[in-house]
Amino acid sequence: MITPTFKPARGLIRWILDRGGFAAIVMPNRTVYICEEYLNHYAIRRHECSHLAQWDKLGTFRFWFLIIYGFLVDGYNQSPLEIEARQAETNPSHPLLTNYNWRPT
Ligand SMILES: [Zn+2]
Repeated sequence: MITPTFKPARGLIRWILDRGGFAAIVMPNRTVYICEEYLNHYAIRRHECSHLAQWDKLGTFRFWFLIIYGFLVDGYNQSPLEIEARQAETNPSHPLLTNYNWRPT
């Protein structure tokens, strides 16, 4: 079971999240920077862990290429990786979450 590190987003990262209207962002070493008010938000934690699992599955280059490509071509809401992550938000049994401990520790 992988337990990612959830850190409160501060400074520049928080500013970027606020500007983009995002709650969190995944970073290398299975670290998630998350707006402090969402630290214990289960759906957001599952969403971010599903992105970490996508990153594991696709590798760094393909993951970030597909995230950016999906954002630019399909739009954030219709991006295939975002659709998949949103499915995991509401389904704790989603296959992407199998190896991830998304619950607050
Ligand atoms: Zn997402």
